[in-house]
Amino acid sequence: MSNWQELERKYLMHTTDRVPVTLVRGKGARVWDDEEREYLDFVGGWAVNSLGHCHPAVSGAITEQAGTLIQASNQFYTIPQLRLAELLVNNSCLQRVFLCNSGAEANEGAVKLARRYGQRYLNGAYEVISAMGSFHGRTLSMVAATGQSKFQKPYAPLPTGFVNVEYDSIEAVQAATNERTCAVMLEPVQGEGGVNIPEKGYLAAVKQWCRDKGILLILDEIQTGIGRIGTLFGYQQYGVEPDIITLAKGLGSGVPIGAVMAREEVSVFVPGEHGSTFGGNPLACAAAYAAVKFILDNNICDNVARVGRHLLEGLLRLKAKHQCITDVRGCGLLAALYFDAELAAPVLSACLERGLLVNKLKPNALRFMPPLIINNGDVDEAMAILDQAISAVA
Ligand SMILES: *Cc1c(COP(=O)(O)O)cnc(C)c1O
Repeated sequence: MSNWQELERKYLMHTTDRVPVTLVRGKGARVWDDEEREYLDFVGGWAVNSLGHCHPAVSGAITEQAGTLIQASNQFYTIPQLRLAELLVNNSCLQRVFLCNSGAEANEGAVKLARRYGQRYLNGAYEVISAMGSFHGRTLSMVAATGQSKFQKPYAPLPTGFVNVEYDSIEAVQAATNERTCAVMLEPVQGEGGVNIPEKGYLAAVKQWCRDKGILLILDEIQTGIGRIGTLFGYQQYGVEPDIITLAKGLGSGVPIGAVMAREEVSVFVPGEHGSTFGGNPLACAAAYAAVKFILDNNICDNVARVGRHLLEGLLRLKAKHQCITDVRGCGLLAALYFDAELAAPVLSACLERGLLVNKLKPNALRFMPPLIINNGDVDEAMAILDQAISAVA
């Protein structure tokens, strides 16, 4: 065990089972460890490094902003957050932005906004319907929204006002709706919960139901947003215009930032009702502006769609070859491979030895979330390593 791994054991709270690699630098889709070993990165900082590691557009914007103005508070106007907000609004169906620092914080803001809307327009309705198998973050309220008992059990009692229903079932949403309901909150594709892709009509049916009932549709686009599934926002692929979306992960291409976006009429906060010390700080906003602008100007979403199809084909070829693979799921550059046994950890280790980083989604599943700028050659390289790794283990 390296010195760094000993320090981790000694000083950090043990919240994650780490892979025994200490990463020290990265460039594009490659990272290097403290022994100068190179890896192809299909983890991407957990779907965060949209433009890969240390992309010059992002690093340059950070460097410039770091020498200009890092933080000023929202007592004042600052330019990077205004430019970012304008860019996001001009490229979405929503008109208002609130900036924060993480995914969970964005979702908290979205739920607070929905409750505020409920107080104003829905006779005090406050309940949020979310889905089983979802992932909405680690704060207590988002644990309550996250429909997975492994995240909820350790923290009982949970905040009230959340109802978890079956995913991909419009009937389940309908059955759970009552006079207390102010919103339905869903991921367009469930990421952490398994790369669960809903039936084509599901989101549109939920949207129609929400419109009929006068309640809000919140889409948690923290993982699906910013190009990850082949369009700037996931909702664009489902022909659905949500009332609120939340963003984080890929937004800053590695820099922590989150956002809540809402329709004009839904944006009911008044000064003092919500806020954030670091939210919208110039440094993070300059990075996010640079990342989103680069993604738009260089048609990176088209690259995601194209290379994502190549990745899915590659995974399907592996499935045809290896009997232990039971399922392949993919949507842009968010994909998963399911095994018939608990093979994720051993395959992950075998990939590591061969220079490929992948994510363990479940004991029997791996997830792939590479930078959005990878090409077919990177995918071919990853598939060759995966092929060998699976052969070595299964
Ligand atoms: C990662 C994730 C979150 C939580 O984001 P944090 O930045 O870790 O708080 C919420 N929702 C979805 C869909 C996510 O993938």
